[in-house]
Amino acid sequence: MSTRTRQAVTNTLPALFPDCLPGFTPTGALLELPPLSEECARQVTDRVLAPDFDAWSEALARVGNCARPVRLCGHSETVDLATGEIVAGYTSASERLGVTHVRCGNRRASECLSCSRVYAGDMFHLIRAGVTGGKGVPEAVADNPLVFATLTGPSFGAVHGRRDHHNRCHQLPGTEPGPLCSHTRRRDCHLRHGEDDPLLGQPLCGGCYDYASHVVWQWWAPDLWRRFTIALRRLVSHAIGVPVTRLGEVATVQYAKVAEFQLRGLVHFHTLVRLDGPRTPDGFAPASGTLDATGLALLVRRAATTVRLTVPGVDVDDPARVLAFGRQVDARPVRTSRRTDDPDRVLDPEQVAGYLAKYATKSATDTSGTDNPHHRRIRATTRALAGRARTAAAARPSTDGAPGANPYELLGRWVHMLGFRGHFASKSRRYSVTLGVLRRARRRAQALIAQSRDSGRPLNLAALEADLLADEDTETTLVIGDWRYVGSGWATDGERVLAAAAAARAREYAQWKADQRKGSQEHVRGQGDGWTD
Ligand SMILES: [Zn+2]
Ligand SMILES: [Zn+2]
Ligand SMILES: [Zn+2]
Repeated sequence: MSTRTRQAVTNTLPALFPDCLPGFTPTGALLELPPLSEECARQVTDRVLAPDFDAWSEALARVGNCARPVRLCGHSETVDLATGEIVAGYTSASERLGVTHVRCGNRRASECLSCSRVYAGDMFHLIRAGVTGGKGVPEAVADNPLVFATLTGPSFGAVHGRRDHHNRCHQLPGTEPGPLCSHTRRRDCHLRHGEDDPLLGQPLCGGCYDYASHVVWQWWAPDLWRRFTIALRRLVSHAIGVPVTRLGEVATVQYAKVAEFQLRGLVHFHTLVRLDGPRTPDGFAPASGTLDATGLALLVRRAATTVRLTVPGVDVDDPARVLAFGRQVDARPVRTSRRTDDPDRVLDPEQVAGYLAKYATKSATDTSGTDNPHHRRIRATTRALAGRARTAAAARPSTDGAPGANPYELLGRWVHMLGFRGHFASKSRRYSVTLGVLRRARRRAQALIAQSRDSGRPLNLAALEADLLADEDTETTLVIGDWRYVGSGWATDGERVLAAAAAARAREYAQWKADQRKGSQEHVRGQGDGWTD
């Protein structure tokens, strides 16, 4: 691209953000573009100089700079439920580009920076509301016992790792047999690995590593978690002194959990466990006080270390296994215990909500992109076990002649997740507000913001919070539509590059705004927070 063309491009691009970056002066060029192929550079120029550029940049802004928006054609009508009257109508034909663009909604930053950030924000608000209250959750939840715990998988073979206190990777205790395994690989490693060492998480010997059990554990990890929650409830009933069937009359155990892939390709669970009072229609009752956070942490640790799950092998040649969590269970009361990264400070609720939200998006972004010999071998083992399970099922037809049931039947579909089929983030029903409610509230907020922009009347979203979060059944209108899928993504690579650059710039702006806010003492907590992208 010539300097003159580039100038034209960068001078035009602020139109991508009509009136939405007030006060912000980016340090670098107006918009950073990566090195482009000749064709892509031409597409960028064509897009920017096209007569419908404003319409395109409006569409881009409306999907929040989504990298791969869905294109739809159709129309919808909003009907007043009381009168049956059509109160509003919308058709994609009214758009200047002739189609309606809708966010892709992908949670992975590698797929869509913009949509993954929306997801991260929602996760943060959801998790924080369960810890400090807010977003419709009473602030009294902050007084209930709260424990932050990490449940890891067991060892399936020694892997290279960073040890605490600057210790070496693997030193053999005196009782261990000689330094070589049967594959003549060293069984010890005297290195102090750096943070980015590609060896981290890799087994010392792939031959000794129990890949089959690794995959089987991962496959059942969601069930093992479920068992853990049952065991915890049982321990809590016992501690309070009520039969488990009547626990709900006294207390409920609420949690939010996030699965994160460790370098060794095994998930572990970060969780917040909260002890509430008796079951009530809206949840969140104050705890009775018979069990405090320290007592709850003890029970979490005991439940995690004692829970067992016996599972069958994938076929007759594969043994049944008894699955458990690893022996290292970190469970600490929030507000009273110390932080691991900063022992002088207490583990505060906001911090924990931040950790968990970060893990949630990390796991949503970093799982499938891993490619190293160890992970390749886990995938290969997953495929092989899935094949054996299919053969075993086919060989033992059920009574109606269809292939017999095998609990590993769907394993083959989860190769990309290294055999993990669970949710990356989940919560008990009464932990907090739901993602659905947050998303609906954001849609409502965006409609109000658009209205306020058109009418010039100021808007105070904080005052409207309760209405924004209200349940669907209080809606008095119904939207009926007829839509057709046209395609996914922007029309050219050039448009995609522009969208990505705009998303990066918007992110920079969000960071700048957050810094400004931190600096300003007058900032009113929660004002407009989390309702817009
Ligand atoms: Zn997107
Ligand atoms: Zn090592
Ligand atoms: Zn070996």
